[in-house]
Amino acid sequence: MLSRALVLRVAEFPAFKRWIKHSSLTQGLIQRFIAGEDVDTAIAIAHQLNQEGFLVALDYLGEDTHRLEDAEQAACQYITLLERIAQSQVNSCISIKLTQLGLDLGYEIARKNLEKVLAAAQSLNNFVWIDMESSKHTQPILDLFCELYPRYPNSGTVLQSYLYRTPQDLERLIHLGARVRLVKGAYAEPKEVAYPDKKSVDHQFKVQMELLLEQGKEPAIATHDLRLINHAKQYAAELGLEKSQYEFQLLYGISRELQKQLLAEGYRTLIYVPYGEQWYPYFSRRLAERPANLYFILRSLFRK
Ligand SMILES: Cc1cc2nc3c(=O)[nH]c(=O)nc-3n(C[C@H](O)[C@H](O)[C@H](O)COP(=O)(O)OP(=O)(O)OC[C@H]3O[C@@H](n4cnc5c(N)ncnc54)[C@H](O)[C@@H]3O)c2cc1C
Repeated sequence: MLSRALVLRVAEFPAFKRWIKHSSLTQGLIQRFIAGEDVDTAIAIAHQLNQEGFLVALDYLGEDTHRLEDAEQAACQYITLLERIAQSQVNSCISIKLTQLGLDLGYEIARKNLEKVLAAAQSLNNFVWIDMESSKHTQPILDLFCELYPRYPNSGTVLQSYLYRTPQDLERLIHLGARVRLVKGAYAEPKEVAYPDKKSVDHQFKVQMELLLEQGKEPAIATHDLRLINHAKQYAAELGLEKSQYEFQLLYGISRELQKQLLAEGYRTLIYVPYGEQWYPYFSRRLAERPANLYFILRSLFRK
């Protein structure tokens, strides 16, 4: 059985990367997970999803930016995206990564860029989700988010149930009154900081989800795990929550039947739609979550 860490390590090999990017065998899977490389395609897909009844979060892909001009450029791209959303009247918020906005170059750089994006979103009456990244970034991401939240309450952030620290972070964000998207976590983390086994991660998710439903502001339950989704529905109903008081969030291209089913049952359902040329790291995390995706393309390679 391939572990997440191993798949992510293999995904870093230059030859593997080249093959994934250019082979005709992988294009179908890439298109399944990535909405396209340009903003027009992403807006068209968001529009289509809106027509079906879904809410959308657009993610202009990119992370680990190491040049100041690239970080500033990413902030500009997000502001343009917010303007395009407003002009096209698509019902979509945005989801961003702080390493894309220069977090590795310095806290102040990321803050300056983030603030520009948050201010643009506020003036356009839109909402910004700040994605969570690898554990070395958790503290600065949360610090930056908590610092800016009082001025920009049109924002929310993400907590990963696999991290040991998450219960304290969840208390902090509930106390702040901010929206939280709860996920299991998609990075390869050492066992010193994160639960290494799925059973514990799922258990943590359940416990944290219950607390979020009890005390959180419009909780976002971001998983494709049917058991956890069913538990969320049942627990929310026991708490007397309306379906409009919390939200399920799922990734573009994953568990599409489940997405439609949630919508048909009247649940608020948001689809996270990634697009852009820098799709490779996002795509490799999707491969690592479900090694069957990797087996699928490797099998087609050997069948050729
Ligand atoms: C809206 C949204 C936003 C997210 N934002 C972040 C973030 O900011 N930071 C972060 O670390 N992680 C983020 N994630 C990813 C998350 O951490 C998990 O890695 C991912 O959701 C897979 O876990 P799961 O909860 O679906 O449960 P799992 O137990 O992994 O999967 C449950 C079922 O979902 C299906 N499934 C899951 N993944 C795949 C896949 N890749 N391909 C095909 N089927 C699949 C399978 O049927 C699987 O049995 C986000 C996820 C969502 C849905």
